Amino acid sequence: MSNYHLSLVIPVYNEEENLENLNQKIKEVLTNSGYQYEIIFVNDGSIDKSFEILKKIAAFGPDIKIINFRKNFGQTAALAAGINHAQGEIIVPLDADLESNPADIPKLLAKIKEGYDIVSGWRKNRWQNKFFSRRLTSMTANWLISAVTKVKLHDYGCTLKAYRCEIIKEVGLYGEMHRFIPALASWQGARVTEIEVNYQPRRFGKSNYGLGRTFKVILDLMTIKFLSGYSTKPIHFFGAAGFISIFIGFLAGGLAVYYKLTQQKDFISTPLPVLTALFFIVGVLFILIGFLAEMIMRVYHETQRRPIYSIKEKINFPAQGGSASGG
Ligand code: UDP
Ligand code: MG
Repeated sequence: MSNYHLSLVIPVYNEEENLENLNQKIKEVLTNSGYQYEIIFVNDGSIDKSFEILKKIAAFGPDIKIINFRKNFGQTAALAAGINHAQGEIIVPLDADLESNPADIPKLLAKIKEGYDIVSGWRKNRWQNKFFSRRLTSMTANWLISAVTKVKLHDYGCTLKAYRCEIIKEVGLYGEMHRFIPALASWQGARVTEIEVNYQPRRFGKSNYGLGRTFKVILDLMTIKFLSGYSTKPIHFFGAAGFISIFIGFLAGGLAVYYKLTQQKDFISTPLPVLTALFFIVGVLFILIGFLAEMIMRVYHETQRRPIYSIKEKINFPAQGGSASGG
């Protein structure tokens, strides 16, 4: 077991023009900081020269490591692989595009020293000139996530954050869930705070995401909320919905019978009998779906977690470190 204080985890997808500059900046900031650190670059199936450049950079020393994916698995998978292989006490993910400044890293670390488990970066001046197209959606998204998760942060999307190793390794990462790590960890009892960090638009390459991401984020948010509340007892969620539906069905049926008995309206002159049948059937189906979800969840909790990525090769990792499939 090596004793790094710090692991930088950097997902890389077609960032050939940024990598050398990035490595240089990290060196400037951390060389005399007193922190023993490793850098883990995760090459997420880049189709430009990123991997060649990374190999050159890694030749400078054993503390610069590369994980090379077979294909593009996405930013969350890249972060997950880097985090699983990180050996530092503190883990700091960082974008390769230099939108965040490595000079902010010591500030994050200082906050961790104060006793926080997660320190989140807040790119306060991002989207200054694009109020309607980007800033408004970003503010709304962050407000929504904060409201639903009850973890108040201004900038969930900022990759630059610092995590205590044991906190982040417990959070399973799926889909595009990396932005929810602070919320998931906070639900497990982690202490979370945020500080302002610098932001600079990309100089080279282009962003891999557009506005379409908003909908994915909202769906992800609903998923984690549902899973956190009901993943071990889905029947409580579906069962409640089912009972409500059946209850409405009874009301509609009762009303229809009342009209009939008081000779106000015939069964066929109102939609009530149809509604009765509809709500009744929907209610029963909800309960059955609940049982199905229970069975699936039991299987889910009992199966081993499969990694969501596949590693082709690793560079500068000790030979015995981890299995070949990267678990
Ligand atoms: N990235 C990745 N795999 C992908 C997409 C992005 O590893 O499929 C990396 C990318 O190289 C960058 C980081 O994730 O280091 C953030 O991506 P990007 O800058 O495109 O996102 P944005 O800053 O627009 O949120
Ligand atoms: Mg970026």
